[in-house]
Amino acid sequence: MILVLVDHDRGVIDPLSLRALTAARKLSGDVQAIVIGKDGAKVAQEVGEYGAKVLHVATNAQLTDYTPMASGRALLQLVQEIKPEAVLAAGSPRGNEQLAHLAAFMDLPMAAECSSIKIGNPHQVTRARWAANLYEEALVHADLLIATVLAFSVEAEAVGGSAEVKEFEVKLEPADTMVKVLGRAGESKGGGVSLTDAKVIVSGGRGVGGPEGFGILEELAGLLEGTVGCSRVVTSSGWRPHAEQVGQTGTKVAPDLYLACGISGAMQHIAGCKNSKTIVVINTDPEAPILGYADYAIIGDLHKVIPALTAAVKAARG
Ligand SMILES: Cc1cc2nc3c(=O)[nH]c(=O)nc-3n(C[C@H](O)[C@H](O)[C@H](O)COP(=O)(O)OP(=O)(O)OC[C@H]3O[C@@H](n4cnc5c(N)ncnc54)[C@H](O)[C@@H]3O)c2cc1C
Repeated sequence: MILVLVDHDRGVIDPLSLRALTAARKLSGDVQAIVIGKDGAKVAQEVGEYGAKVLHVATNAQLTDYTPMASGRALLQLVQEIKPEAVLAAGSPRGNEQLAHLAAFMDLPMAAECSSIKIGNPHQVTRARWAANLYEEALVHADLLIATVLAFSVEAEAVGGSAEVKEFEVKLEPADTMVKVLGRAGESKGGGVSLTDAKVIVSGGRGVGGPEGFGILEELAGLLEGTVGCSRVVTSSGWRPHAEQVGQTGTKVAPDLYLACGISGAMQHIAGCKNSKTIVVINTDPEAPILGYADYAIIGDLHKVIPALTAAVKAARG
């Protein structure tokens, strides 16, 4: 049996967890899931549709928001009780962090961001290294495989079905809640569509010139029912919140259309957007490295090109 950690943000499921559930279902006919905190029970229907037979809801009065070490403790408690052959989660920063705590508690290795997994003795994995510029074949010598599934390496497939919900109380140690969410600042202004889910992302880099420059990107993203993304220069400069950063240390995305405006194409940025179906670049520099990844490019000043694109979309829609 495979246990999948299904991550959620205050009751809203991380879509990458549905891909991890699908990866687990392809490895085993017996998949169970765990969510952390009572809010997690809200995702039971989706978890069942994506193939889990049981949803374990880890409860404790302190599990009201993201508490990574406490997640590790909840996983440990459940693993000791139901004894799965593997524990999987999404290869997101949160998925990686929570499973790393489980691995540390159990003194076992953890394989992060695996694009393929074979359960056996030893387990075989292919995992992405160096921002997915290198894929490493590795053997995991441990009875229990603890691994995360590389973002976008598996399509989420609903199979129907429903999950039986089982609550259990987690016994936490005082140190388990040392790292917890105290408040939230600078949440994305992207307008409802999350970066991971978005079909269209209008992404801005240093070339946008400052926070006020993002108004034209927001307008175009809104028209295309998409959302705004950005490079790390933009978040480090405080122009946009970190939640909008695309890349190795931001979010990995796979929209139908990624519009990269004033972004040079550093490998750490490409690591986050290379799974996009179509990449359109707007850049003044015809030698910018991002052109090597572009399906289409417009060489020009984004402050002129984006309003022209917006006007064209409006005109096309009458
Ligand atoms: C460990 C590590 C992790 C990192 N993680 C990330 C990450 O997750 N995401 C990320 O993005 N970066 C990340 N970086 C930073 C990365 O290396 C680059 O520094 C960053 O991506 C560059 O951002 P940029 O493309 O916006 O800026 P620049 O590289 O300065 O590029 C700006 C581009 O804008 C163009 N331009 C300028 N004016 C205009 C205009 N008016 N119209 C059109 N084009 C214009 C220029 O020609 C240029 O190509 C990381 C770096 C390290 C070391």
